[in-house]
Amino acid sequence: MDNKLRSSYKVIIVVVLTIMVSGACKKKNAIDKCGGTEGGPGGLVSLLVSTDQDITMGLAAVKEIESNPSKYQVLDSSKNVKAYGHIYRITKNILNSGNVFYKNEFAWRIRIIKDDSTLNAFCTPGGYIYVYTGLIKFLDNETQLAGVMGHEMGHADRRHGAKQMIQQYGISMLLSILTDSTSSKLPELAANLLLLKYSRSDETEADNYSVRYLYGTEYDPRGAKYFFEKLIAAGQTGGMPAFLSTHPNPEDRVANIDKLWECLGSKVGQTFVTQYMDFKSSLP
Ligand SMILES: [Zn+2]
Repeated sequence: MDNKLRSSYKVIIVVVLTIMVSGACKKKNAIDKCGGTEGGPGGLVSLLVSTDQDITMGLAAVKEIESNPSKYQVLDSSKNVKAYGHIYRITKNILNSGNVFYKNEFAWRIRIIKDDSTLNAFCTPGGYIYVYTGLIKFLDNETQLAGVMGHEMGHADRRHGAKQMIQQYGISMLLSILTDSTSSKLPELAANLLLLKYSRSDETEADNYSVRYLYGTEYDPRGAKYFFEKLIAAGQTGGMPAFLSTHPNPEDRVANIDKLWECLGSKVGQTFVTQYMDFKSSLP
């Protein structure tokens, strides 16, 4: 059998398996009344890429970040104990919401990047979260930051990075890179991960999961919405940070978050202004 034929057989087998497994997992991945799945992300990613392989990708991205300290000035957690105490608390609150599917499988390790001019945050596959001081200083309360962090953690928890890597590399190439820890292609994949742009539907899904995570905490579940409203008010929608991508537009995202929040039951939470001021003033 030539290689082309063999790979088409592989594709057929994968498709058949997917149909079988998605049938078997129907209950687990049932859609709830507000349009979200009650189980994991499902789909090809869950079937073909393991959570350990997500961690492999995440660690490769961490290595890439740590090898470039002029671009990514990561704050030392042992020298910034107070600031890290705050951000660890926020991460823990989100993880303990009861709504993070891979709470125990992924690392969920957070680092602060010192760069006051960058309004950014991101989370690699496997849960390595980075938040820029520029974003923390731009925001007014803890709930807004929790909303943005929930969005980023949502990308990892719904496995959007792995999904994008399947599209970029194709599944067999991706798996061959991830099963060989010495693969020379791994650093290139890590660099691609750090430049990643998510699809419109993945952005909407990450917004939705931000609301869902915060719904299980004391935070107002609409934290991400308040961030978009702040961006709109600041007139920064033209220079939207890369991690928010240019689509969907912030006005649509605000409306989408409101709709989901109403569907979930319109729970109003807290914003935690005072402790957020303490967090901001603890930053270098
Ligand atoms: Zn996003």
